Amino acid sequence: MTDSIFGPGTLLGPEPAMLIGGRRVTTAETRSVENPATGEQLAAVPEATADDVAEALAAAAAAQRAWARTSHPRRAEVLAAVMAELDTHAEELARIVVAEQGKPITEARGEIGGARLFLDVALGNKYRDVGELVAPNTAGEQIAIREEPYGVVAAIIPWNFPAAIFARKVGPALMAGNAVVVKPSELTPLSALAMARVCQLAGVPDGLVNVVCGEGRVVGRQLVEHPLTSMVTLTGSTRAGREILAQAAGKVMAVSLELGGKAPVIIFPDADLDLAVGKAFEARFWNCGQVCTCNERTYVHASLHDEFVARFAELARGIRIGDPAADDTELGPKVSAAEWDKVKGLVDGAVAAGAKVVLGGDRPEGGRFTRGHWFAPTVLTGVANDMEVVQREVFGPVLPVLPFDGYDEVIDWANSTDYGLTSYVFTEDLRTAMRATDDLEFGEVYVNAVGPEQFQAFHSGWKLSGLGGDDGRHGYDRYVRRKTVYLRYGG
Ligand code: NAD
Repeated sequence: MTDSIFGPGTLLGPEPAMLIGGRRVTTAETRSVENPATGEQLAAVPEATADDVAEALAAAAAAQRAWARTSHPRRAEVLAAVMAELDTHAEELARIVVAEQGKPITEARGEIGGARLFLDVALGNKYRDVGELVAPNTAGEQIAIREEPYGVVAAIIPWNFPAAIFARKVGPALMAGNAVVVKPSELTPLSALAMARVCQLAGVPDGLVNVVCGEGRVVGRQLVEHPLTSMVTLTGSTRAGREILAQAAGKVMAVSLELGGKAPVIIFPDADLDLAVGKAFEARFWNCGQVCTCNERTYVHASLHDEFVARFAELARGIRIGDPAADDTELGPKVSAAEWDKVKGLVDGAVAAGAKVVLGGDRPEGGRFTRGHWFAPTVLTGVANDMEVVQREVFGPVLPVLPFDGYDEVIDWANSTDYGLTSYVFTEDLRTAMRATDDLEFGEVYVNAVGPEQFQAFHSGWKLSGLGGDDGRHGYDRYVRRKTVYLRYGG
């Protein structure tokens, strides 16, 4: 499979290169990218120097000046061309995502479809209202509050959706008149390099979209602190969000943060159990549990607990684990050894504290799973709400299930983590659904449904899950600042 993603004529070209001001840039120092399914090296990717970062920002600033003078319909045309190019390369992009990130190919195809949708939602702003008029104190005056781009946006992205989150940031940033420098995760730079090449092939002007690769605390930090960067958008961990916020404080710079999650699924006694089991299952195992909206803990009313556990475990036992490039695979590996160790540590910690392993808990059995970062679907019971496995983001195929007795108890438990991104409620009673929607301290509540989120809506975390948000009109708003113009034209 890897043959099809490297070499002449592919998006990654003869060798992976950064895109800076329309130039392919390689460096003497490189970083190894591995295939998580085998643990073997997949590619060596350039590691940006401070000069590369400065050059990318200068190219972005130069390109942005002309771009800011283009009309919104023109920007939409450019994004439409990127969508068309994306369609041409959709399968190649999906294979790149699989190779470096490990999600099953069917999910990777969905991710590329998602990237397309992010661009589509962004270009939907082509006829937007770009300001407002406010009644002035004096006749013969006009007060206009105009939307303006920031200039150069630094987009720092994670490994779990390395192609889709590229589009989630680049689409609205460009549509609003900004230029972008993207810094992908150290683990999954190839998808961003390929997406940038797609932009270039589509005719995006040189310098508007750049990619620099390297370590977050070095290259990411240089990007954030550089004087030419005027806005930062991050999707990543709460740790990175805090560090970036601190770095940005010196410049008093706009920051938008999409951070971790610890989504609860709450199954009330009157829930449709077939629906709840199916959706709780779906929302746990997407992308090997590596989605910020994943079902990280399920609270089931005590009257349904045992039946839920039995049915959930049966579904989990049936998951097809294996080669992520195969069409019938449902669960791939974790992305890295460090991520695997974290998941294993949380499971072992729970067991040491008294939890019971109903299913999984370690590597799946079988020769192919001895290499790479495979973790078996895992179900834990006998878990207490204050255990780490319930409080910390696991980001793996592990579900702790907890029985509850009363409404107040379960809402308190659901709200008890530091995170506040996504929550799920299953009930057939409208009053319970609306009461829970009122009481849950989360930026998203799904009732009798699970994601993925719809990109015309708004994806924003409360508490340690973020600041700002992505998608829809509120997400777009992060990429504009406002200028108030006082125009006197009267005598
Ligand atoms: P991470 O925080 O380790 O890395 C994210 C990005 O930030 C990477 O590009 C990294 O190099 C960079 N970075 C790290 N420290 C930095 C610093 N000090 N300065 C500048 N850049 C820095 O996160 P990850 O492990 O790649 O991604 C997983 C996390 O992302 C999970 O917590 C997950 O919940 C979260 N996530 C959130 C959403 C959302 O929409 N809220 C979506 C996907 C993932």
